[in-house]
Amino acid sequence: MNLKLIDTHCHVNFSAYKDDMDAVIGRSLDEGIGMIIVGTQSDTSRRAVEVAEKYDGVWASIGLHPSHLHKQEFHDVGEFDSVKTRTEFFDPEFYRQLASHPKVMAIGEFGLDYYHLPPDIDEAQVHKDQINATNLQIDLATEFNKPIIVHSRDAHDDQFEILRLAVEAGKLPRRGVVHCFTGTLKDAQRYIDLGFMISFTGILTFSKELQVIARELPIESIMVETDAPYLSPVPHRGKRNEPSYVKFIAQTLADVKGLSYKQVAEQTTANAIKFFGLDI
Ligand SMILES: [Zn+2]
Repeated sequence: MNLKLIDTHCHVNFSAYKDDMDAVIGRSLDEGIGMIIVGTQSDTSRRAVEVAEKYDGVWASIGLHPSHLHKQEFHDVGEFDSVKTRTEFFDPEFYRQLASHPKVMAIGEFGLDYYHLPPDIDEAQVHKDQINATNLQIDLATEFNKPIIVHSRDAHDDQFEILRLAVEAGKLPRRGVVHCFTGTLKDAQRYIDLGFMISFTGILTFSKELQVIARELPIESIMVETDAPYLSPVPHRGKRNEPSYVKFIAQTLADVKGLSYKQVAEQTTANAIKFFGLDI
């Protein structure tokens, strides 16, 4: 299969696409844009695998997102929809059964989110639960020799420390990607020094701060993603996002790095193929 780009992180498995998921995936594949569908809890992880099974150029990742550890509801500024979660504990047995599927290329997304906190639970307890679920999923990725997809928001010091300790202990031989990166240049550089990748969403298309960071990072360590249905890039801000829009993020990356679109598309696609071990 000849893919021109890969959206390395999307959620077409979410209910936002319940009426037109196949059309959305088809639009993307018709443009030569493959995708990794990412699970955020047990139902959406199972669904990611089921959808990936149906298509060439589509793969899955499975995991439990920190916002799904405690029941909560929030609506981020500028988003087309709110997020509602229920409480789920990480069940290694459930995820272990899914992890052996040939279309499961990574474990995640999981990690630390100190930005969205459930209102009714002690903050220290929330952090503790998130750290615990993170370590369990690092162990799963190590057991199955898969890379990880890390979600880290307002928590880069703790997140980096967990990853550093894991790597030091001989875990995560295939490392991981820090997805939807919104930290500082120093944060990005220490993840890269640890062998991790950095991935940019549509935020790159409108955040000058992030563009400055992207300019400084080596293109070999960068991947692109939509995080659809959220975080639509310019010119689709505030509307439902979809995998085919990853081209706008690649274009911004080309502009800020002074490279051609083709160079960025080829390099980030090669990065994704290598990172996830895609058989294309
Ligand atoms: Zn996501």
